[in-house]
Amino acid sequence: MAYLVQKYGGSSVATPSKIRGVAKRVQKSLCTCDGIVVVVSAMGDTTDELISLAHRLNDDPPSREMDMLLSTGETITAPLLAMSLAAIGVDAVSLTGLQAGIRTSASHRKARIVDIIPERILEELARGRIVVVAGFQGANEQLDITTLGRGGSDTTAVALATALRAEHCEIYTDVRGVFSADPRIVPEAVPIPEISYAEMLEFAAVGAKVMHPRAVEIGEAYDMPIWVRSSFDDSGGTIICRHPKLEDRQKVRGIAHETDVAKITMLRVPDRPGIAAAIFGPLAEHHINVDVILQNVGHDGTTDLSFTISASDLRAAEKLVGDIAHSIGADGYEATSDIAKVSVVGTGMLNTPGIAATMFRTLADAGINITLISTSEIRITCIIDRERVRDAVQALHRAYELDQL
Ligand code: ADP
Ligand code: ASP
Ligand code: MG
Repeated sequence: MAYLVQKYGGSSVATPSKIRGVAKRVQKSLCTCDGIVVVVSAMGDTTDELISLAHRLNDDPPSREMDMLLSTGETITAPLLAMSLAAIGVDAVSLTGLQAGIRTSASHRKARIVDIIPERILEELARGRIVVVAGFQGANEQLDITTLGRGGSDTTAVALATALRAEHCEIYTDVRGVFSADPRIVPEAVPIPEISYAEMLEFAAVGAKVMHPRAVEIGEAYDMPIWVRSSFDDSGGTIICRHPKLEDRQKVRGIAHETDVAKITMLRVPDRPGIAAAIFGPLAEHHINVDVILQNVGHDGTTDLSFTISASDLRAAEKLVGDIAHSIGADGYEATSDIAKVSVVGTGMLNTPGIAATMFRTLADAGINITLISTSEIRITCIIDRERVRDAVQALHRAYELDQL
């Protein structure tokens, strides 16, 4: 059986008339396959609104209760789309993540899908129904509702496509695919027709929000091609796959930025074995991802150690680092979230002389100070002042002539 999985993001289902548009698109796709599973996000800015509602009652809300609350956004969209399909004569049923068999790890707000038990979905498909699944949510072993992290409906979709052995997974959003930079920041950015999982994973991980990084990871692990397209027109979009044809011709694929970044500097840390483990162990235990790390060379037996985390984890991290500093004999810590991350992503960059130099020269010419640098095989990242991030992305896009592809 050739099943199709389509996912529609928040802006694609923001209003009743947009939901009606999605229903028509789903109906049109019916003739191309044996059955369709549609994954939906919360309508428009619902998730943001639910988060600010929670913070009006508690400035550090319990994460289990946040998951109960945030999952309701998607739980509303799914039946609305099913009703809209019924209104045009298409038999459809909506399912929550739990009903769809999406089992996750225990950790609230950042749960990972550990298993999908697709029996119910398969039964409904066999009855000729379109199955509309609420994205972003699942259930842990206790059957408590979990969510997969912001943007996680993409991951629901790719995981379901894998579980149902679909030929590919379609992600419908408010832009015409993956662009060489965020088109909201760089109007000259161009859509990338094909991109490898590895490049897209780095691109998404450093801020290209059009895809959730976990979704790309699952796509790569199970070789599931992901087609990112606009829900408002029929333009070509971007195929994320293993071997894009363009790969060899181009080194730099895009520029990404991220403003959800905070930096913590541990001051005058004693320079002895075991210190990094003492700092990063407790952070990892609390599911706080550490990104760029820099240890400054000290001359008096101590060093300053800086690292970045997600700004949304800063409150949780600050609860830990004061005690850590005390226990390792450091002089305390400083924290700032006035920073941002700008990254250049592309295959084989580090082996191509000049790519890193161009990045540093471009930022210097724009008078933008770099506070930390990190690299991988296919990415160079600089930490800069948050207020210069737009200038940095635009200058780099021009410097690598990405508008001329
Ligand atoms: P959805 O609600 O459909 O999941 P998102 O808001 O999560 O949509 O992702 C789409 C947005 O991602 C776009 O509106 C765009 O501003 C942003 N974006 C950031 N970087 C890129 C990029 N490189 N290419 C395309 N869009 C990007
Ligand atoms: N509604 C969730 C969010 O806004 C999940 C998603 O849209 O993918 O992050
Ligand atoms: Mg998204």
